[in-house]
Amino acid sequence: MRAAVLSAPGSMEIVDLPAPTAGTGEVLVRVEATGMCGSDRHIYVGTSPVALPLVPGHEICGIVVEAPGAAGDDLVGRRVTLDPNIPCRGCPACRRGDPHLCEHLSAIGVSRDGGFAEYVVAPREQAHVLPDDLPAALGTFVEPVGCCLRAIDRAGIRAGSSVVVFGGGVIGLIMLQLALLEGAGEVILVSGQESSRTLAEELGASGTVTPGADPEETAARIRGLVPHGVDVVIECAGTADAFTAATQTPRRGGAVILFGVMPSGQKVEVEPHDLLFRELRIEGSFLNPFSHARAAGLVGAGRLRLERLLTRTIDLDDLPSVLGALPRPGDIKTVVLNHS
Ligand SMILES: [Zn+2]
Ligand SMILES: [Zn+2]
Repeated sequence: MRAAVLSAPGSMEIVDLPAPTAGTGEVLVRVEATGMCGSDRHIYVGTSPVALPLVPGHEICGIVVEAPGAAGDDLVGRRVTLDPNIPCRGCPACRRGDPHLCEHLSAIGVSRDGGFAEYVVAPREQAHVLPDDLPAALGTFVEPVGCCLRAIDRAGIRAGSSVVVFGGGVIGLIMLQLALLEGAGEVILVSGQESSRTLAEELGASGTVTPGADPEETAARIRGLVPHGVDVVIECAGTADAFTAATQTPRRGGAVILFGVMPSGQKVEVEPHDLLFRELRIEGSFLNPFSHARAAGLVGAGRLRLERLLTRTIDLDDLPSVLGALPRPGDIKTVVLNHS
């Protein structure tokens, strides 16, 4: 089978590999489409170090072609999405119900071969069925939607809540839609990209904000739009300025959910006195514990406008050059499509 093998940081080639085989309790999936994620760029350039060689790709949609073992029969021929994160189920974190914090977590496309190939193997319980008529490119969105659902679960949005989302990439634009589904009364998106702000308004944002020259100005612009105060801020930009502005934005007693990934080692100044007296709740959101199945349901039912976020499809052959280049302006999501 053809596969994109990363052999060293910045060095990826399309090569012929023996197709993997599925053992009992596993599924062999013919990959139809795999989304390209920000973390794939980090893996590609080496800022997220992983064991190499590796076939990356963790946002996978495809057809099950083999599922040895009686329990797998109903899956053969079905379109599935794979939850890439595989917990050990035995460590203290797994046993207390936090599989995403597993001490021995493995992940498809990160610590074992993933979806930038014609076939991939996974434990059967990682596969979740999607409708046969769902375009495979949209099926790749289940993984990022599942991670966003984790953040939405932690945000505590209630019907009528005011929500601010920092970041106008694919994650911010999914969070915006999920916050609206959750019943938010208003959702404001903060992005420096004009195309993202325009798209956000089309997707139902009640307003958009361009970041100011400093975090104080950004927070003041948002407060100007929400005089009664912001209930929840979801930070998906992953920059120090966005973090600082995010903590300055909520009303007293409000919440900040951290989703954007800042570089390891980066520090940000905070004023504990201010955080305490505003009784701010600040929570991280990591991976997708117990949310992949719900994400598959949402995507399968067409509850999200994902086709507006799919801005580019490429062939597997083009992946090395696309991963090696900067994202094109206005590009939201790129998906690798396998034609077969
Ligand atoms: Zn991803
Ligand atoms: Zn574990």
